[in-house]
Amino acid sequence: MGIFSRGKKSPPARHNFLVKRCPECFVSLPIDATNCFSCKTRVGRVDSYGKARRPVNWYSYLTCIITWGALILYIRWAFF
Ligand SMILES: [Zn+2]
Repeated sequence: MGIFSRGKKSPPARHNFLVKRCPECFVSLPIDATNCFSCKTRVGRVDSYGKARRPVNWYSYLTCIITWGALILYIRWAFF
């Protein structure tokens, strides 16, 4: 009887957020904010939970790679 009757599903939530949450300090930010005004973290676009994504920090990646590359080159130059 009631086994196959399903409850009325609510329509899927649309992601029209007006604010997003900072991933670091969870303060509410304007939806188009690129930086958190509270902790200065760079924030990306909002995800489906209303939380801002963390943008990939290419600059620090690059700095890390270059630093390691320079270190390896220096060691090779100094000792071989
Ligand atoms: Zn923050």
